[in-house]
Amino acid sequence: SFRQLSNSLLRRSAYKTPALQGLTPRFFHSSPRNNMKVLAVLYDGHKAAVEEPRLLGTTENKLGIQEWLKEQGHEYIVTSDKEGPDSLFQKHIVDAEVLITTPFHPGYLTADLVEKAKNLKICITAGVGSDHIDLNACVSKGIQVLEVTGSNVVSVAEHVVMSILLLVRNFVPAHEMIERGDWQVSDIARLAFDLEGKVIGTIGAGRIGYRVLQRLVPFDCKELLYYDYAPLPDAAAKAVGARRVEDLKDFVSQCDVVTVNAPLHEGTRGLVNAELLKHFKKGAWLVNTARGAICDKDAVAAALKSGQLSGYSGDVWNVQPAPKDHVWRTMKNPIGGGNGMVPHYSGTTLDAQARYANGAKKILENYFTGKEQNPPDIIIGKTGYETKAYGQRK
Ligand code: NAD
Repeated sequence: SFRQLSNSLLRRSAYKTPALQGLTPRFFHSSPRNNMKVLAVLYDGHKAAVEEPRLLGTTENKLGIQEWLKEQGHEYIVTSDKEGPDSLFQKHIVDAEVLITTPFHPGYLTADLVEKAKNLKICITAGVGSDHIDLNACVSKGIQVLEVTGSNVVSVAEHVVMSILLLVRNFVPAHEMIERGDWQVSDIARLAFDLEGKVIGTIGAGRIGYRVLQRLVPFDCKELLYYDYAPLPDAAAKAVGARRVEDLKDFVSQCDVVTVNAPLHEGTRGLVNAELLKHFKKGAWLVNTARGAICDKDAVAAALKSGQLSGYSGDVWNVQPAPKDHVWRTMKNPIGGGNGMVPHYSGTTLDAQARYANGAKKILENYFTGKEQNPPDIIIGKTGYETKAYGQRK
């Protein structure tokens, strides 16, 4: 294996040969080193983060690892300033060895920036979903990418179930009516239904998608469907009574509710577009807490406006933070409802923050001490992709 090879090279002091000298820092970590530059891009929590120290994913609370890094002699730069060549992110990426980002306020590590990041060895996503990083560029430069796999999958699955319910039951306009001081039951009930008896399908039946299916079982839906190139193990599919549909158009045409739970990659970008939306049942509901760019922004807005979709809900946007005039903030169905959009927070509950902060620390610790990483956390390892979730590759 690569590890055995590198150990044997180390034993023979072969790394002292000129040909291998340049490789030494990137590949060999025989003893913990200090003085590493760790750069983290987090969101500003302002007053809330000062009042609530469990908001660990903020620039104020710094994932709770500032002291720990300092004790070991590492440099720790934390910033929310991530856009443009003059941003602190782009300034510090040129010599950082470790990059920590979150999907909530993504530091977009483009191929250009990978090129400039001459010292970068490892990217850690504090959370799940590393599409804000140009993964192929990292593969070509031997940069590892790890996530805290599983850290917030329950948090998201709960949000998905909530979002399905709030759309199907027409909750948001009902609450807005109450705040306005109005009371007109028929205006709400005209588009309010039960989940019982409906067909619900998930695009992606991995950790989150499967947990969504599990949580839907007690609702006595007519059917639970899934679309995924990786079939569920028979026992898992049976446990939730899920049926796999292999053709995407066929799949969406059978669903009253579609929920998207796949990573964003070349094979899912724009997957839910104007053409696919035509194949949805008229008046279906769509919930997307996976990644905004999996759904075509304008096609979704048009489908909601025309009533082809009765509702769209989610917390992820094609650009984050979403611009003030983003059409998803205000789009509505023909009777003025059907919008359940929120900022990206389903996977950043306080419970989730504790888990992903801990997990990020564990990944760092493994890296500093040269320990093996937990295999499910590895998106890109030392020799390339180690996950099958970011697209089908040979
Ligand atoms: P996972 O790796 O456990 O499961 C992903 C599943 O999607 C896999 O089964 C994979 O085969 C499937 N898939 C990949 N490409 C597909 C395609 N083209 N069509 C159908 N299925 C496809 O990941 P997970 O933990 O379930 O997370 C899924 C995604 O959810 C993450 O990658 C992330 O983008 C998103 N997420 C969002 C939040 C949030 O706060 N909103 C939090 C966590 C994760």
